[in-house]
Amino acid sequence: MSAPTPAGLVSSAAVNATSTPTIGVLALQGDVREHVAALRHCGAAPVLVRREAELAAVDGLVLPGGESTAISKLLQAFDLLEPLRARLRDGLPAFGSCAGMILLASEVLDTRPDAQHLSGIDMTVRRNAFGRQVDSFETDLEFTGLDTPVRAVFIRAPWVERVGDGVEVLARVPHGPAQGRIVAARQGNVVATSFHPEVTGDLRVHELFVDLVRKAG
Ligand code: GLN
Repeated sequence: MSAPTPAGLVSSAAVNATSTPTIGVLALQGDVREHVAALRHCGAAPVLVRREAELAAVDGLVLPGGESTAISKLLQAFDLLEPLRARLRDGLPAFGSCAGMILLASEVLDTRPDAQHLSGIDMTVRRNAFGRQVDSFETDLEFTGLDTPVRAVFIRAPWVERVGDGVEVLARVPHGPAQGRIVAARQGNVVATSFHPEVTGDLRVHELFVDLVRKAG
């Protein structure tokens, strides 16, 4: 006969399935509020991250859309660049949308020479890749792990030109001049999308990320 479970103790699997992870949103510039609302809706406890001590306290981090070169400058001004690189090296789960994807790349094309990135995913990202005529558009696309296509909003978005071994491609542009371009990727606990799931009301990408943070915890 197995020993009775002590009162108040549940298996770690059950804890993980329902836990409320603390997920930071890097709040230096960009669409921070939309990510905070999406994370809250998905059962996480969102907190704003502007300081090293705030970064140290999170179970996962979202890097919002905005302007990657501005966020890069602010990361340095707020002394967050090296602490964030260190946490990513230690396995911090992270999700970057648009400018966030650019920041998570290991190589960035068409950016300013002094722009910094975080190398959270072994990938080469081209900034503002879709060109002027189609620089902002919406489409439905297949996304690995989701049953039905996700609505994707692209705003002066990047695409991924190269992924390293160990990087999973999650989504590609389904049609048009950029057909086949990679617009979502994952390496370990780090996920990036060219588009903005935080603005559509379809929160399934955030749900996937919150689940990933729970499992990593
Ligand atoms: N073009 C922006 C950049 O280079 C990204 C746009 C966005 O996040 N919507 O950072």
